[in-house]
Amino acid sequence: MNLILLGPPGAGKGTQAKRLEEKFGVVQISTGDMLRAEVAGGTEIGREAKAVMEAGKLVSDDILVRMLAKRIERPDCKPGFILDGFPRTVPQAEALDTMLAEHGVKLDAVIELKVDAPTLVERIAGRYSCAKCGTGYHDLFKLPKVAGVCDSCGSTEFVRRADDKRETVQARLEAYEKQTAPILPHYAGRGILHDVDGLAAIDDVSAQILAILDALKVAPK
Ligand code: ADP
Ligand code: ADP
Ligand code: ZN
Repeated sequence: MNLILLGPPGAGKGTQAKRLEEKFGVVQISTGDMLRAEVAGGTEIGREAKAVMEAGKLVSDDILVRMLAKRIERPDCKPGFILDGFPRTVPQAEALDTMLAEHGVKLDAVIELKVDAPTLVERIAGRYSCAKCGTGYHDLFKLPKVAGVCDSCGSTEFVRRADDKRETVQARLEAYEKQTAPILPHYAGRGILHDVDGLAAIDDVSAQILAILDALKVAPK
């Protein structure tokens, strides 16, 4: 199964990608996570990307396309992948088409999570994750089962993203409208774009996605 999850920041892409990863035995490719790892590692890409990310703008297509081309060649992508955060511009979508054609890989579906702006702001403001394993949480919508303890790994340390500040959210939402939303017709024209009501509860969003995949005859592992 090869899937793209599209949607504005805070729509729930990462949350859903993690669930699908387990169910279908495929890998989540989060370009945001990859860039944050570059920043944390102080690499050349990280040094270039840090300020751009903190301002809520998009990192250059050139960097992203090279990063993704390398990632998609790794053997763990063979059983399938879920792209979370890529493509985010028309040139990235075009570059992805070329890459996939070169590898003879077919996209099964592009799933768009639809969420309104006030909800996105609320989701981003309350987002945090486990510092050790990365499991995502929310102050109001997804608390750990035991307060202060990660459900997945038992760690008691949590982190918030540097760009999840109220001041940056507006810039990120604008970048989505201006630069990312224009790629939707690219996939709609091919009949592979499906939308999902991202305002629903986490389990209901998963159920909507599974129904789409089921109708396409994409089987879990
Ligand atoms: P969110 O899940 O909140 O939308 P991400 O973790 O996907 O955020 O991305 C965080 C930041 O990383 C983006 O605001 C942008 O600066 C950068 N980024 C991630 N993916 C891309 C991409 N495909 N193209 C350009 N910039 C990207
Ligand atoms: P994205 O990867 O699209 O930026 P996330 O998956 O990180 O979005 O979700 C943003 C925040 O909203 C997280 O704190 C997550 O726990 C929470 N969240 C995700 N999906 C839902 C949902 N359907 N209802 C309520 N909160 C959600
Ligand atoms: Zn954890």
